[in-house]
Amino acid sequence: MTTALKFPQAATHSASRAQAPALIELREVTKHYSSREGKMQALQPLSFNIREEEFVSIVGPSGCGKSTLLKLVAGLEPISSGTMTLSGSRIAGPQKNVGIVFQSAVLLAWRNVLDNILLQAEMRGMPMATARKHALHLIEMAGLKGFEKKFPWQLSGGMQQRVSICRALLHEPAVLLMDEPFGALDAMTRESMNLELQRIWLESKKTVLLITHSISEAVFLSDRVIVMSERPGSIAAIYDIDLPRPRPLEVMATPDFLHYTKTIRAHFNAQGSLDAH
Ligand code: ADP
Repeated sequence: MTTALKFPQAATHSASRAQAPALIELREVTKHYSSREGKMQALQPLSFNIREEEFVSIVGPSGCGKSTLLKLVAGLEPISSGTMTLSGSRIAGPQKNVGIVFQSAVLLAWRNVLDNILLQAEMRGMPMATARKHALHLIEMAGLKGFEKKFPWQLSGGMQQRVSICRALLHEPAVLLMDEPFGALDAMTRESMNLELQRIWLESKKTVLLITHSISEAVFLSDRVIVMSERPGSIAAIYDIDLPRPRPLEVMATPDFLHYTKTIRAHFNAQGSLDAH
């Protein structure tokens, strides 16, 4: 199922991560929803691993089950069959060891940047002095130094989303789950957020699972891109992205990059369901 396109310059980063142990393992995982109309199968049997410190993106047509898959990993929805583990333990119920970032930053308007991030610590009962120290470190890492006391309405959309990434990382989760985190941003801001996220990821060494409609965003950020087919979702292909890191935005104009995006886009063209860009 894994498809490695051959490119002259192999990325040293992804080569080392290829040896890393699996953090998330799915074996024949299915999901169906029950409603008054009956049973609706959202996901066909899915099997794949995500390795420690790996950046994996999932692309696929609307309704193919991407968000469902993310909810299963977070333990917010139960799987219908198969097995699914995080750090070797079965995922049953909401997982403490994950951080989640949604399309909307979901910040509290009456709390400043630092206090919005510390909400995570309050909800989890973390020791506040340590949490505060870590929050200030994350703020610096996310390029928000000097904005600690600003309120959400004083920040751009991109900055708000950076705050929500800091909040998701505060408890040092093993994995960061991101569901279309930059979908509401304009194209320019989105590109700069892609750069920021790459930097944060390289620095924080987290495992990331990103859901995106943007094929170029997926290729730019990922070690591997999982392409899903139409509902009920299944895996159409998995591509190893062998581009050196850190990747500058200019990489998007290179023949290797364009080859990846063209190859992935062809899956959607074939299905006649291109809503990705
Ligand atoms: P995607 O994120 O790829 O757009 P989703 O995972 O949101 O897809 O949805 C996959 C399918 O499952 C869709 O047909 C959607 O309507 C359905 N679905 C999602 N959540 C629920 C739910 N809680 N109850 C019933 N059906 C659902």
